[in-house]
Amino acid sequence: MAGIDTLTSELGGSLAGKRILVRSDLNVPLDGTTITDDGRIRASVPTIKALAEAGARVVVTAHLGRPKGAPDPAYSLAPVAARLEELLGARVAFATDTVGESARETVDGLADGEIAVLENVRFNAGETSKDDAERGDFADQLAALADGFVSDGFGVVHRKQASVYDVAMRLPHAMGNLVAAEIDVLRRLTDSPDRPYVVVLGGSKVSDKLGVIDNLLDKADKLLIGGGMVFTFLKAQGLEVGKSLLEDDQLDVCRDYTERAKASGVEILLPTDIVVDTAFPSDDRTPQPQVVAADAIPSDALGLDIGPESGAAFAAALADARTVFWNGPMGVFEVDEFAAGTRAVAEALTTVDGLSVVGGGDSAAAVRQLGFEESAFGHISTGGGASLEYLEGKELPGITVLEN
Ligand code: ADP
Ligand code: MG
Repeated sequence: MAGIDTLTSELGGSLAGKRILVRSDLNVPLDGTTITDDGRIRASVPTIKALAEAGARVVVTAHLGRPKGAPDPAYSLAPVAARLEELLGARVAFATDTVGESARETVDGLADGEIAVLENVRFNAGETSKDDAERGDFADQLAALADGFVSDGFGVVHRKQASVYDVAMRLPHAMGNLVAAEIDVLRRLTDSPDRPYVVVLGGSKVSDKLGVIDNLLDKADKLLIGGGMVFTFLKAQGLEVGKSLLEDDQLDVCRDYTERAKASGVEILLPTDIVVDTAFPSDDRTPQPQVVAADAIPSDALGLDIGPESGAAFAAALADARTVFWNGPMGVFEVDEFAAGTRAVAEALTTVDGLSVVGGGDSAAAVRQLGFEESAFGHISTGGGASLEYLEGKELPGITVLEN
């Protein structure tokens, strides 16, 4: 763990007794107070554990959801702290505020190797403020709780926020395990990837992924497209897409990508068959899936998954890949009847002889929901927005600040 070793030497050769503030990404989906997917908590464990084992007094800060800069019990991190305690098999103290009396007392009460979680950092308006001074004031209060800072919340490193960016300016700092691993993988996807390099894109909208397509079009050998965004590509080729998701204002962009790919010898693979239904799946309707050819989508139908022939073709295109980046489900995987395309791609990724990366919140949730072991993939990225911004070639403020 190179990052943390550097911090250790900066702090006098040992972390024992040092208060280390860790920014983790614990933003998990909740149903009431029940955590429905604890992937991000699990991913945060190794760094927290390593710091505790080094004798640090570990103070974890994180956000949950989008509270409006003030305490809101619906977004309390208490259930998350309880789950973290189970996963660590060690006591986790919980402060009922972020930088107030409870936080100070909780941190003061830690012995070497003990762990505390502070209440939702977004209960303070300073966290996400666009005003540098307001954010700075809040970062001062966070920094006062610690002797060093470890940035491990990969899902937030693209944000210029107090607990991500400003606090790193105020304390000796390092990258945590998770951030270091994510950055390492993203570098392998963008600087001289092993070839063939196949990029699979899906999900809901083309407009969400423009920057990624733009940047990866020059690097990949093949681009496979499914999900809701594929209908804009199909329409751009002159096909009718019925009531499927369509972004009319992106038709020219899709045409342009297709041209560019042709010119640079990148193969774009679109589905040849589609699973359609006459309405979007909902609670009070039994799905009636039907497979049609991609050039024969009925006008009253909407495409909800790639068909079996396309799933097989995508899998074949992935078979000899040495590097794969996949973002965005191939269909409405949340509903069984429309999950087969996503399953076929996930399955194919598990047999890749090389680096296979799953990026994106819904994509990561999809592979877990479909019952795949995380270890079957080379890497599952926890930070959708941050990975995408890196792959778009943008600078991530939370990384830049650590490198300075
Ligand atoms: P990620 O979070 O992995 O980046 P997105 O947020 O872009 O992925 O997209 C995920 C969503 O896309 C899922 O909720 C899925 O139901 C939806 N989706 C996939 N295919 C379609 C489709 N054909 N029509 C409408 N929505 C779709
Ligand atoms: Mg998403």
